[in-house]
Amino acid sequence: MIGTGGTIAGRGESAANTPAYACSVLGIDEILSAIPEAAALASFRVEQLLQIGSENFNNDHLLKIGKRISDVLKDDDVDGVILTHGTDTIEETAYFLHLTLKSPKPVVVVGSMRPPSAMSSDASLNLYDAILVVIHPASRGKGTLVVANDEIHTARDVMKTNSFKLEAFRSPYGALGYVVEGEPRYYRKPSRDHTVRTEWSIDALDSLPKVDIVYAYGALEQEVIGTVAADARGLIIAGTGNGNIAARMVEPLRAAARDGLHVVRASRTGNGVVIRNGAQPDDDYGWLVVDDQAPQKARILLMLAISSHSDDRSALQAAFYRY
Ligand code: ASP
Repeated sequence: MIGTGGTIAGRGESAANTPAYACSVLGIDEILSAIPEAAALASFRVEQLLQIGSENFNNDHLLKIGKRISDVLKDDDVDGVILTHGTDTIEETAYFLHLTLKSPKPVVVVGSMRPPSAMSSDASLNLYDAILVVIHPASRGKGTLVVANDEIHTARDVMKTNSFKLEAFRSPYGALGYVVEGEPRYYRKPSRDHTVRTEWSIDALDSLPKVDIVYAYGALEQEVIGTVAADARGLIIAGTGNGNIAARMVEPLRAAARDGLHVVRASRTGNGVVIRNGAQPDDDYGWLVVDDQAPQKARILLMLAISSHSDDRSALQAAFYRY
């Protein structure tokens, strides 16, 4: 069990006053010791890898977490890993692990919406459920999972869709399963390639190319393209609707693509597919589209795809349809 901080490691002065809690203060050993039932389920090794809210995570944190989990999974004594994590970017870290770990052993990422000190906190139950999931034989080979609010989600699809409710995590096609009365029950499997069936290994990754995201809105102006980091290799446009691009934005984005920036049309709706050569002639403009990946998932995937395919745009496009 590897701790990285977040609300699941938070503590408030009052059980009723949850907004005032401090995030990322409890150690992973303290979080685990709040669940006496855990000892009967498995034997644990715990380690504190980070102690920060996940809104602070950058690519170096992703690499650090991935490499550590990869090392731990190579140990024959280890049957699976639980990563405790803040909920804000849990879906990004989980997807990164899902695409880069090279083991069929289960990895479960878990956080909570309320700190352990709050009334009706979800911290202990989410962690207890994560233990039940990681030790269950049916969890093997399913890649990285996110457990929250009685549900088991695939890292590919899950997103935080609410800022405060316990029912914050949703997958567009539904959860893979539930944890019911202490028993994981699966109803579906991830269908896209992951872990041992991807082209990336965390052990071989030492840096990630920079990919930025621009969020479209009614009055978005051309100038925003100039604010994209000079060292960015890719740009995800969280476009309106079906990855739509305002007419005034087309020329700057065409110029950016000609200059070598990989421009990807995604949808700020966070749901549904973006049709290639639909709203825009992507072939003519040298642009890419997501399949159904939300912008924050598309950033993770494009970083990895650029790391292995560099500037081969047809290979980059294929990655969105494969994973
Ligand atoms: N800010 C926290 C984080 O993502 C929120 C949480 O854990 O729910 O680390």
